[in-house]
Amino acid sequence: MDYRVSAQERATFKRCRRQWDFGSIHRQRLQTLDPAPIDLNQAIRDALAVYYYPGMWDWQSAIVLPLVRKAFMRSIAAAPPSAMRMEALDLGTELLERYFDWAPSIDDFGPLKIESDVEVLVPDIREPGRGLLSADGQRVLYTERVAMVAADAADEYWVVLHSVGPEWRDVENLLLDEASIAACWAWEQTYLGMDVAGTIYNEMRCAALENLGPAPSETRTGRDGRGGYSQNEPSGGGRGLPRAERPERLHSRPATVERVAQEISGPVRRTRIRRDRAEIDAASQQIGVEVLEMLAPHLALYPTPAPEHCPDCAFVAPCLAIMQGCDPTVDLASRFRQGPAAVPYEPRLGAGGGGGRNISLPGPPQL
Ligand code: SF4
Repeated sequence: MDYRVSAQERATFKRCRRQWDFGSIHRQRLQTLDPAPIDLNQAIRDALAVYYYPGMWDWQSAIVLPLVRKAFMRSIAAAPPSAMRMEALDLGTELLERYFDWAPSIDDFGPLKIESDVEVLVPDIREPGRGLLSADGQRVLYTERVAMVAADAADEYWVVLHSVGPEWRDVENLLLDEASIAACWAWEQTYLGMDVAGTIYNEMRCAALENLGPAPSETRTGRDGRGGYSQNEPSGGGRGLPRAERPERLHSRPATVERVAQEISGPVRRTRIRRDRAEIDAASQQIGVEVLEMLAPHLALYPTPAPEHCPDCAFVAPCLAIMQGCDPTVDLASRFRQGPAAVPYEPRLGAGGGGGRNISLPGPPQL
């Protein structure tokens, strides 16, 4: 049995230790009895996992797009009926249709893997070269589910992240997105030999969808349908891509590269950020520091209130009770239950095998 710290748990720990203490599988593991809120981001991500599924990337759009819509509907339908669910259904449907129209004009990669689980030993920052162990001797692993890894025409690998929002995110915000840098690091550690060039932020803006005008009729790569690179092409496609970069492709890489490249096509914005070696390597040290803190026996579990995250926190009521010097036990007992001691594995499309038809990726190393 290993001690697993997911990317999500790490994010919660950094956001608010009290929230982490309530919900973490390693702490009180409390789960609210209220229905889960609608997660439009997750529903769109589920849909795009089908859109970019490597095994279907060469299929005709007429066959794939209905499956994409179905994946979105299935994800939304998992939430209980409500007005919010109807709103998310309408908005997400509109967004997806606009995505089908506009994304081919900027897709310049071939999908390699989607929804892939990676896990890697957390380094012990006190002893270079060693992995961290929990107090009872378990190996400590960092786990992440990577939405997509794609290859461009020069055989460079990119971690691709999808998101939906009312506005574009600031570039500074994206540059500082160390969670995505950690994903690059975890990917490289899981698939040794696959150095990641950086992160591509695939954003969809849900404002002003009615004023987009006509979508471009040409795809970026000239390939019909959904654009991008075919699985059959030697350039950027997935099927024939060997486990490491092909020497004949290396010369096609630009001698000087921009740190940030950005383009907008209708409701879709792509921000390509190169991550340098020092940046990716530093992620492991930072995770080592944070996880070591998580394991500390006398960790201070102070709250970090903020308008950005408290309104969505399931533990507002017990948190307020504690702040007012009251005992939250009754509220916790009536509105929460204790969840499982380990995260139940929820396979998604492509998880595990990853759907990379005939793609020769190096297997995960034995930890
Ligand atoms: S309400 Fe805010 S401060 Fe309290 S536990 Fe939740 S996130 Fe933390």
